[in-house]
Amino acid sequence: MTTTDVSTLAATLRAVLGDHQVITDRQELRTYECDGLAQYRVVPALVALPRTAAECAATVRACVDAGVPFVARGSGTGLSGGALPHADGVLIVTSQMRAIREIAPADERAVVEPGVINLHVSRAAAPYGYHYAPDPSSQQVCSIGGNVAENSGGAHCLKYGFTTNHVTGLEVVTPDGDLVRLGGRAPDAPGYDLLGAFVGSEGTLGITTEVTVRLTRSPESVRTLLAGFAGTDQAGAATSAIIAAGVVPAAIEMMDALAIEAAEAAVRCGYPAGAGAVLIVELDGPAAEVDAQFADVERLCRDNGATEIRVAADDAERALIWKGRKSAFAAVGRISPDYIVQDGVIPRTALPEVLRRIAEISARHGVRVANVFHAGDGNLHPLVLFDDAVPGQAERAEEVSAAILDICVAQGGSITGEHGVGMDKVSFMPRMYTDDDLDTMQLLRCAFDPRGLANPGKVFPTPRLCGEVPGRRRGVHPVQEAGLAEMF
Ligand SMILES: Cc1cc2nc3c(=O)[nH]c(=O)nc-3n(C[C@H](O)[C@H](O)[C@H](O)COP(=O)(O)OP(=O)(O)OC[C@H]3O[C@@H](n4cnc5c(N)ncnc54)[C@H](O)[C@@H]3O)c2cc1C
Repeated sequence: MTTTDVSTLAATLRAVLGDHQVITDRQELRTYECDGLAQYRVVPALVALPRTAAECAATVRACVDAGVPFVARGSGTGLSGGALPHADGVLIVTSQMRAIREIAPADERAVVEPGVINLHVSRAAAPYGYHYAPDPSSQQVCSIGGNVAENSGGAHCLKYGFTTNHVTGLEVVTPDGDLVRLGGRAPDAPGYDLLGAFVGSEGTLGITTEVTVRLTRSPESVRTLLAGFAGTDQAGAATSAIIAAGVVPAAIEMMDALAIEAAEAAVRCGYPAGAGAVLIVELDGPAAEVDAQFADVERLCRDNGATEIRVAADDAERALIWKGRKSAFAAVGRISPDYIVQDGVIPRTALPEVLRRIAEISARHGVRVANVFHAGDGNLHPLVLFDDAVPGQAERAEEVSAAILDICVAQGGSITGEHGVGMDKVSFMPRMYTDDDLDTMQLLRCAFDPRGLANPGKVFPTPRLCGEVPGRRRGVHPVQEAGLAEMF
């Protein structure tokens, strides 16, 4: 965009949103140059801060009229560069759309604006005996709109499911600038599952302006234990044994020795000294059931080599156990100047083998890897440590990080469990999907966004359809040939 184009678009947007809702000052724009994946930085041409769905739709329409791309941003905590701005585009930030419109305990629903902070939904529902179950570790700052776009998970998603299982309705600004509704309060709607397609679409199918979520009854009883093991093999075996026994804990989280060291240095969580791995196991539900199953979990941990088991006696002790886990990503900053937060998925039973292979790769490359993850659903978060000031270390860390994802794919897992593809994993998509798979996904994207203006350059390796720059595919796509879809 030329300077004149930016000024014209800014004037259009100021007329709709008001002067203070549009940012063009270069210094102020830099606030928004990255999300939680700070190695990618792009200063947007301008930032728009709509306060209502109508303002958001008008902003998108102005982008369409000007032919410029737009990127949605909630709180900017994403770890895959999904909210990375476009240099010639508009960053549409939802931080001023923070109203909780309704808490409806009788329907077990809440209706919220997209900028509402995840934890605030649970706080608002608490007086009615309810909470919002998906709980990313970033829940004190991340937005519900961002959660929807990333299909975010969290420690308690093992039992309760991911964001997609808790969203029943959305109001969305389509990439044409129309306001539409997908789903509603009812558990399901007939027809194609467009709501399901939208959740996890990482801002590529439009912008959410209202979210209807399920509220979950808060459990009568919650019990948490911390078990120390000699190593991850034993902790992994205990995890599999607990699930195999038919117990579905609210959460099973694992940290290895390096992650424990980092957490201790940062928050002094008092984890068992010398442990090669710890498991945090939390059970919730009716008190009688929790008590019975808790005894089973303690026994299974001991049977699989737990060297120490601590049971939280009260809320303060439970909070301390969780503090170590929830602060683990940031805590790694205490033991390494730089690190990559990786996110991959494997079948739970492959945990011991995959952790051994990660250790081998780490030793071979001379790059330390700390593991902290959602063990119950096989969602790994290897933290690959390096020092950017040492030549070659960043590249080696990237290699280790990529090799870990290859292992996940080879095990039948995934290149991302909850942090999304965004910018970061675009080049990994072909390791999981064939060209035809990716083209078929593009057809869906094009159905929503024929101009390719909604968060372009994210998720897909090479834009090939909708008149975007042609990539590897040459000739007619098989679904076109079969008369099932057309390219435009
Ligand atoms: C310390 C830390 C811990 C974390 N722990 C977890 C965890 O346990 N589980 C987990 O899943 N994630 C975790 N994350 C990642 C991150 O917090 C989540 O991905 C979160 O959902 C992002 O929300 P956000 O509001 O910050 O979104 P942003 O970073 O602003 O945006 C994320 C994506 O959503 C899109 N988007 C944002 N708002 C909208 C909207 N209204 N409509 C359409 N698209 C939109 C953006 O374009 C972008 O693609 C963690 C991050 C940090 C920094």
